[in-house]
Amino acid sequence: MAVAGGGGRPAGRQARGKQMQRTVNNVKMTLICGFITLLVLRGTVGINLLAYGGGGGGYDAAALAAAADEARVVEDIERILREIRSDSDPDEEEDDDNGGIDASATVTNSTAVRSASATTPAKSLNYTLGPKVTRWNAKRRQWLSRNPGFPSRDARGNPRILLVTGSQPAPCDNPIGDHYLLKSTKNKIDYCRIHGIEIVHNMAHLDRELAGYWAKLPLLRRLMLSHPEVEWVWWMDSDALFTDMAFELPFERYEGRNLVIHGYPDLLFRQRSWIALNTGSFLLRNCQWSLELLDAWAPMGPKGHVRDEAGKLLTASLTGRPAFEADDQSALIHLLLTEKERWMEKVYVENEYYLHGFWAGLVDRYEEMMEKHHPGLGDDRWPFVTHFVGCKPCGSYGDYPAERCLSSMERAFNFADNQVLRLYGFRHRSLVNAKVRRVANRTANPLVNKAAALKMDAKIQS
Ligand code: UDP
Ligand code: MN
Repeated sequence: MAVAGGGGRPAGRQARGKQMQRTVNNVKMTLICGFITLLVLRGTVGINLLAYGGGGGGYDAAALAAAADEARVVEDIERILREIRSDSDPDEEEDDDNGGIDASATVTNSTAVRSASATTPAKSLNYTLGPKVTRWNAKRRQWLSRNPGFPSRDARGNPRILLVTGSQPAPCDNPIGDHYLLKSTKNKIDYCRIHGIEIVHNMAHLDRELAGYWAKLPLLRRLMLSHPEVEWVWWMDSDALFTDMAFELPFERYEGRNLVIHGYPDLLFRQRSWIALNTGSFLLRNCQWSLELLDAWAPMGPKGHVRDEAGKLLTASLTGRPAFEADDQSALIHLLLTEKERWMEKVYVENEYYLHGFWAGLVDRYEEMMEKHHPGLGDDRWPFVTHFVGCKPCGSYGDYPAERCLSSMERAFNFADNQVLRLYGFRHRSLVNAKVRRVANRTANPLVNKAAALKMDAKIQS
């Protein structure tokens, strides 16, 4: 979300009527294309949710109860998959998930919505991200125990992570925007390949109400539900680049936490600043709590009247926020401020390294970093993520001059790419030059010596 200025947010409103049908068709096409994208990029993650082994032959009560339980789980997961695979509006789907299940989760959730509505009238009270999902922790646990081929931890014992990014369904306003979108995706694929992380790039709007920066909410929800094997989903904006290819997330710190987000508690709770947290890069644990957080987060998102009115409320209640429609970052900050007791216990506000790093203070210092430091630090010395907040490389207007944004993105990309190219014995001629030169002899299998080649303590010369 933008740090300065409200630029780019108030999109021109289109007349409805005739255009409606075309829009619906476009949305359908988009969903189909987006889903194909998901399938293609999902690569080897493919899971067989329906691959349950048949039950044993016993007829005792316990076995029958277990079979009934299993049938319910299969039914639940099939319904969720149907929803994901259909291009219909999830709101129109039948909600058959309320029978005899975890009342406490339902009560907590509706309480949250009610108490929020008292303080935030500018929310759509009827809006939901989809049929309510309850008892997800138990369902997920059960699924994992029945599908040992899809463990939630990898061979090294680390939690399984799915990096999720996305971009608008249509081409960028300018081809150069698409060019940098591609570079940004390449940068993420590189990081994921080096660290054994799965990646999804989504271009669909899974919910027509939640276009733009709100699109991540329904997407994360659906990925959590369709990938029970994934422990953490990690959202990263398309305008954020990995700039430390050696840094790894310190998961031991996040034991017992469900949301990990870059920010500053003081800015959040004392100053109520609209940039106290940044939703350009954050992690959500695949659990019931996260599904409920998304439900509580979404109601300011529906575009048009609700989003516009909620924007006024957010501007009035947060410090430094320009006047524009509700954005997901402000809405999350507002939610955590108004319902601190309900959520904060499970939130880890990270600022020891740059899970998100604001580009303007970083990109001009890369040469100095290369001079003094080395990859693997993740902080001010060698930022893990450089995020081009406010640049809007895919749109036509941002809060900063397009040329400065693009040349800075080029520098960030090459700074990161040097760390990858070192595996192969190459280096960019300079940070502003896409051309590379050979600096070492080719090794037979670069990735075999990955750890050595990434050499955390080795400097990279410019
Ligand atoms: N995005 C998306 N679908 C869309 C539009 C945007 O998935 O239709 C994503 C994209 O990854 C983008 C992010 O939403 O980076 C947030 O928007 P942006 O980065 O432009 O906001 P900023 O960080 O500049 O405030
Ligand atoms: Mn961004």
